[in-house]
Amino acid sequence: MTDRDRIAALLRAHDIQPSAQRLAIAAFVLGSGDHPTAEQVHRAVTATLPMVSRATVYNTLKLLVERGLLDQHRVDDGPALYDPNVHHHHHLIDEDTGHVVDIPADAIEVTRFDEPAGYEVLSYTVTVRGRRRDAGTETPRSAAGDDVRDG
Ligand SMILES: [Zn+2]
Repeated sequence: MTDRDRIAALLRAHDIQPSAQRLAIAAFVLGSGDHPTAEQVHRAVTATLPMVSRATVYNTLKLLVERGLLDQHRVDDGPALYDPNVHHHHHLIDEDTGHVVDIPADAIEVTRFDEPAGYEVLSYTVTVRGRRRDAGTETPRSAAGDDVRDG
């Protein structure tokens, strides 16, 4: 079974008709192992299928979220991030690059939490902020004039 067949079967199993465009979108985002934005998905998919519209990308991502194949997160007031890891896990946000890294659920244990009055906590997700220990020691790959901005 090719990856394409596997993704098509996965979509069908979730009542999603696997059109060529949906297949390309699902293959990219589910295989990314990352947390792409809709814009990044659109850019990647149109590299091979230039006719895919933003609306198709947004609608397909929404469908994949509704059917439980993707999670959707938002960091600060940035765009929605789509997460192919739908199992319970936490996130580390790289302060230098904005990159989101998965942290296994069992790597963090909250030992005390005062529930807000009137609420029962059902689950929690921890967002950790940090930066690579070797940040700044690598030689930039981009050309001069493409400096990393503060942010
Ligand atoms: Zn994640």
